[in-house]
Amino acid sequence: MKKTAIIGGGASGLMAALFAARAGANVTIYEHNNSVGKKILASGNGRCNIINTTATYEDYAGADPQFVTYALKQLNFHYFEKFCHSIGLLLDIKDDGRCYPLSNEAKSVLIALKSAVSEAGVKIITDSKVTAITKNDSHFNVQTDQDKQRYNNVLIATGSQAAPQLGATADGYTFARSFGHEILPTYPSLVQLHLNSRNHHKMAGVKTTAEVTLIIDGKSKDKVQGDILFAAYGISGLAILDISQRASHALLHKQRVSISLNLLPHYDRGELASIIEKVFASVAQHDVHTALCGLLSAKIVTYLLEDAAITQNTTVSTLSPKDVKKLAHLIGEWKFEVTDTHGFKHAEVSGGGVSTAQVNNKTMESKLVEGLYFTGEVLDIVGRRGGYNFNFAWASGMIAGKEMGK
Ligand SMILES: Cc1cc2nc3c(=O)[nH]c(=O)nc-3n(C[C@H](O)[C@H](O)[C@H](O)COP(=O)(O)OP(=O)(O)OC[C@H]3O[C@@H](n4cnc5c(N)ncnc54)[C@H](O)[C@@H]3O)c2cc1C
Repeated sequence: MKKTAIIGGGASGLMAALFAARAGANVTIYEHNNSVGKKILASGNGRCNIINTTATYEDYAGADPQFVTYALKQLNFHYFEKFCHSIGLLLDIKDDGRCYPLSNEAKSVLIALKSAVSEAGVKIITDSKVTAITKNDSHFNVQTDQDKQRYNNVLIATGSQAAPQLGATADGYTFARSFGHEILPTYPSLVQLHLNSRNHHKMAGVKTTAEVTLIIDGKSKDKVQGDILFAAYGISGLAILDISQRASHALLHKQRVSISLNLLPHYDRGELASIIEKVFASVAQHDVHTALCGLLSAKIVTYLLEDAAITQNTTVSTLSPKDVKKLAHLIGEWKFEVTDTHGFKHAEVSGGGVSTAQVNNKTMESKLVEGLYFTGEVLDIVGRRGGYNFNFAWASGMIAGKEMGK
């Protein structure tokens, strides 16, 4: 019976443990937290967006996003749904492909997975930090802060540095490097952004819907419509998280990053000026601040007028056509320089990681070291928001588990 060590009891580690044990391996999970699956519990605001029915490699970033294709085919949605049923977990499938546990509680996912893992005979050692992994001839030595054990196979499922408060570490990269693996520079993703502006902090707490355009080195790279929320440090909201992967990657490469907000995305951009003219014509005797408050949040209006260099109490009828055009332009394209992300502590995931060029995507085994495997977020693969990160964690975990059990 092959002895297998899994470093990290997160999504991919638990999945791999289950499949390896079912295939006949003697499996031990090492988890340095006091319990496994902390990110599963925190995910999707406690609901766990567990998978996406539509996932393809195009939902992922990394040096080679197509690395995920084989895994996603092996664990396609129908297979995953059947698997969930087999462990007693029912799913709520949304129209856009996102799936949640039917209970709407992330806890259900962890409870079902943990009981399947325990039924399969996996040994889980919590409060146990792996500090080094070495290989002598045909076996690996796994060193923890308590002891050292020998194994035939080792899976590095330590995840990324995102959300260290949930136990995230960069240890997986250190282990991989010690075996000669290349690590692509890591960066926070699905994360809030820091802005350089006079006023964003004064709008902290203001939430609205906008179309956000991401601009990198002067070129428009992405456009997303959704919620934005101004904050003391900059800006957050789902639309911001959605553009954050590319923004953060560009910042890592020292590119110039900015965002442009269209504050009235429900209207055609070309018609904005005439719509505003019409509104102004019907409230010609109001001051411009009052007039715009019928369209936009009052706090936003205050700082939009400041950026347009128009005094708040100017009577609408006295605005020049140039001023009206300037306002319409700002409402449709309010630009902010992005200086940084809000960091790994606030990020859901991380880009970069163990180079996929040195890992076999059909087995998740290292191409450099026989018996060494990598799954999930420790790899240079990062998914969009919408269940794609768990999707790859489950899929890569299953493949590695089956392989290690052979
Ligand atoms: C707040 C939040 C919400 C999220 N929501 C979603 C969502 O709804 N849908 C989605 O698809 N994705 C979501 N994600 C991302 C998702 O959680 C991860 O992509 C996924 O958990 C990655 O799985 P993994 O197995 O690679 O790593 P993890 O699940 O992070 O597991 C790694 C494990 O390794 C342990 N570990 C690290 N170093 C050591 C060591 N030296 N020794 C022992 N143990 C160690 C860690 O404690 C951890 O338990 C969210 C992430 C966060 C932070």
